[in-house]
Amino acid sequence: MAERTIRLHLQVEGVVQGVGFRPFVYSLAKSWQLSGVVGNNSLGAFVELEGSEDAVAGFQRDLRLQAPPLAVIDRVTAREVTPTGLQTGFRIAGSQLARLGQTQIAPDCATCADCLRELTDPDDRRYGYPFINCTNCGPRLTIVQDVPYDRPRTTMAGFPMCEPCRREYDDPGDRRFHAQPVCCADCGPRLRLSGFEGGPGEVIAKVAQLLREGQIVAVKGLGGYHLAVDATSDRGTRTLRQRKHRDEKAFAVMVSDLEMARSLAEIAPADELLLTSPARPIVLVPRREPAGLVAAAVAPGQRQLGLMLPYTPLHVLLMREFAGPLVLTSGNVSEEPIAFLDGDARQRLGGIADAFLTHDRPIHLRVDDSVARSFRGEPMLIRRSRGYAPRAIRLPVTAARPVLGCGAELKSTFCLAQGDSATLSPHLGDLKNYETFRSYADGITHLSRLVGISPVVVAHDLHPDYLSTKHAQELAESGLELAGVQHHHAHIASCLVDNGSPGPVIGVAFDGTGYGTDGTLWGGEFLVADLVQARRAGHLAAVPMPGGESAVRQPWRMAAAYCAQLAATPAVAQRYPREWEAVTRLAGSGFAAPPTSSAGRLFDAVACLVGVRDEVSYEGQAAVELEQLANQAARGWYQSEIREFGEMPFQIRGADLVAAVLADLERNVPAADIAMRFHRGLALSIADGCQLIRETSGLGTVALSGGVFQNVLLLELAVAHLERRGFKVLTHRRIPANDGGISIGQAAIAATRDAGSADAR
Ligand SMILES: [Zn+2]
Ligand SMILES: [Zn+2]
Repeated sequence: MAERTIRLHLQVEGVVQGVGFRPFVYSLAKSWQLSGVVGNNSLGAFVELEGSEDAVAGFQRDLRLQAPPLAVIDRVTAREVTPTGLQTGFRIAGSQLARLGQTQIAPDCATCADCLRELTDPDDRRYGYPFINCTNCGPRLTIVQDVPYDRPRTTMAGFPMCEPCRREYDDPGDRRFHAQPVCCADCGPRLRLSGFEGGPGEVIAKVAQLLREGQIVAVKGLGGYHLAVDATSDRGTRTLRQRKHRDEKAFAVMVSDLEMARSLAEIAPADELLLTSPARPIVLVPRREPAGLVAAAVAPGQRQLGLMLPYTPLHVLLMREFAGPLVLTSGNVSEEPIAFLDGDARQRLGGIADAFLTHDRPIHLRVDDSVARSFRGEPMLIRRSRGYAPRAIRLPVTAARPVLGCGAELKSTFCLAQGDSATLSPHLGDLKNYETFRSYADGITHLSRLVGISPVVVAHDLHPDYLSTKHAQELAESGLELAGVQHHHAHIASCLVDNGSPGPVIGVAFDGTGYGTDGTLWGGEFLVADLVQARRAGHLAAVPMPGGESAVRQPWRMAAAYCAQLAATPAVAQRYPREWEAVTRLAGSGFAAPPTSSAGRLFDAVACLVGVRDEVSYEGQAAVELEQLANQAARGWYQSEIREFGEMPFQIRGADLVAAVLADLERNVPAADIAMRFHRGLALSIADGCQLIRETSGLGTVALSGGVFQNVLLLELAVAHLERRGFKVLTHRRIPANDGGISIGQAAIAATRDAGSADAR
């Protein structure tokens, strides 16, 4: 008996556009001798298959097992349709322009192994061509202007394909079939070096020569401009610092390969995976002592280096020619956003760069490099941007209506959620910068279009002065529904999303500061939280923040505030003969000294007292340096008292830790030992606080979130204490623990609340 012929319609959702999915389906269908069609639509890709039942089943199995490397299949929905009975073969359809739902644009991706081989093969027609790419690699998010993802809606629209490129693009059997940015030296973008004529090879040789001479070169990359300088040049790196007005923040360094990375830093297996992943983030790794090769001005006072591997063919060619570590830092002045438009880059970087290495493929969306480090053998993202955005993150809930999470302010991102899928924007930076704010507002509109989500609910921080809050209010005027979410609740929610858990948990949210439900500044919080609500169960005892915001820039003010509580006068007071007393009085008066329970400010106070620094040039600097100072071989720890107040939240006396620091300073204990004892003391307090909450709530899972937990020393100590006491501990991996994760936490909470009220309706 002949086998039954069936016809199936498959809807495939996930990252399936621009990643070689259609040619893959095409050859798979051919191998199973099926006829039908595959095409992109606004939900992802659709497939119609006709053939024997067995063959269709085999195809369905292989679809998931053999999918191309960059494809991510979230969901396949199958429905049987009437067979046509025609053996018309299998074909690839053009895009359906329908806009029914969500599509996923792939993140930009580092050059693949096949393209690398061609790039270095003298017999290949793309030998040495700095813009080589294929369906498995190359620019994506940064060049997409609109959806569906097709060449005319990218910044490659201005480069008509030559005959050989067109043939590859049209051939379903080719690796470049429907690779939208496909091009070659004859038809594609061209490399340019200011004031120099020549082919790509000569240009790159010239740039390497300029770099060897210690010159600063602006290099146009994937998501923006970088500033490059020889990382071994003292003069070059110092000049770059001066011209960029960047005092102390470390520069990222590009290395040619893992071997060069290992010559500069200790590379653990997890770091190696991160470094070589298609996302190619900057990876923070412990530098080798003595660091030797790398100039002091690259990462002053740091025990870590931020390293990355080449991720565009241009980087590959440049690194081959230069053959040494290269500073590759974002092309901007001080805290401005990275330059990505050519004219603007000329203007803003003209005073910094000695030369411009550019090309004529426009960048449509500014996307910064991502930053990661590893924790317990797993990646932990600190800045989620190029290579990761806009890949969707699965929510542990299903949003009834589309939600926008507006994020925080300093490390801003926004998040669009629909159904159980959330799209976190690339890192945007400080919204107080006007240009950053503009790309934030424009970015919301752009990404909403790309992912096909029109938000109905807008979640925002409770801080009335955050520009993200104000933006949410503006959107509300055009009819969107507002949903306020407390800052630290959003942190814990982001950690829950990262771990695919709806809670409830004991949430420990330690950060700089965030607006509390009582209008004071929180930042050392113990919450009992799920994705709907949070109850403040405990916190670090509040201390005044003398001078408000200026205490963030001047950690010595926090030292004064803590010392005032202890009636102590530390050595550092002598460095401020006039101001110390005035600030102490300010702290006592409560005037212009808002109380804060911030863990970040406690770190600041201790960092100042042990002599790390009195003032900072970027947020969290003192804490970062205190972590690096800590001597892990030191013995001992500090202890702080937990005060209970019945139904009210308990309070952990951070001042006890400060008192112990002062006592050790009196005894001339080395600063590195004090730093370690402080970390241990704080980790112990975290575990004690959680234990207290477990006794009354019965909860056995703890979520650790907030910028302070980027400190892997504190994180490791806290996790170890908690696990020893039988807790299950959730930490961050894909979503930053800092304010970059706030928007997805907000979106998850707003979605869950909305789903709850939809059930009630
Ligand atoms: Zn490739
Ligand atoms: Zn071509």
